[in-house]
Amino acid sequence: LPCYLNGHLGRLGDARVPVMDRGFLFGDGVYEAIPVYGRRLFRVDDHLDRLGRSLKALRIEDPYEREAWLDLFRSLVAHLPEVEDQAIYLQVTRGVAPRGHAMPRDLEPTVLVYTQPMQALTPEQRHQGLSCVTARDFRWQRGDIKSISLLGNVLARQVAVDQGADETLLIRDGYLTEGSSSNVWIVRDGALLTPPPGEALLEGVRVRLLQELCEELGVACNLRPIAETELPTADEILLTSASKEVAPVTRLDREPVGHGALRGKPGPVYAKLHEAYQRAKRLQSL
Ligand code: PMP
Repeated sequence: LPCYLNGHLGRLGDARVPVMDRGFLFGDGVYEAIPVYGRRLFRVDDHLDRLGRSLKALRIEDPYEREAWLDLFRSLVAHLPEVEDQAIYLQVTRGVAPRGHAMPRDLEPTVLVYTQPMQALTPEQRHQGLSCVTARDFRWQRGDIKSISLLGNVLARQVAVDQGADETLLIRDGYLTEGSSSNVWIVRDGALLTPPPGEALLEGVRVRLLQELCEELGVACNLRPIAETELPTADEILLTSASKEVAPVTRLDREPVGHGALRGKPGPVYAKLHEAYQRAKRLQSL
């Protein structure tokens, strides 16, 4: 599969970055992961808007205009077999310089873009639902920046892996922030809820998308703080991310999620949103 590094197309396995790259030394960079369905990019403008916000927070100038990014993505995607869904991974670091914390001026940013097969949920995972655990969110306080410094997220995910679970839901000061690599939603009294975007968590591209889908479906959707104590009593819990799309959570800290006949099973709001999401993929990929 092809890979783009600083103006050159080549093979991913052959791509090399100098060890003095600030991405390697400091984690001084940002990234995006953009879904590609049948060679068509999904919600790419939202991803490039967020990339722009992340770069601005780091005071790195966006290396390309929007059309240049799109041309670059299209040239990579043109090599793909149409059948396989892919994710475009893109990363921009501040560049190569002698080590020192202060931001050097006038660096050439390092730009890496490659595609990889989408790590989609399996049909069994969609049928049975995912299992999640909760853990304290001890990451830094700028979760809104899509930083390549992901140690906090890596340690958080491993909490789930160590317990045979799929994802870790992070709790800060008694409130839900997000998953280690996903946004988290609950259903209560027929309404879909997720914490409002702010500095504590990443505003997923799917946060706006789910709000739009809820509008279409006539499902109430509110952005408001979610207390940790609301999780065990939620009717449904959902995750969203580029690769998970919208996913049902059916076990939380080893207990089944939901009530009555639907306890431990994917719920009706999930089912509606999943269907609407598949429709949006067909209609909104460019
Ligand atoms: N939060 C975190 C920490 C993430 O890594 C991701 C996945 N990129 C998300 C939320 C979901 O964002 P998106 O819908 O844009 O994939």
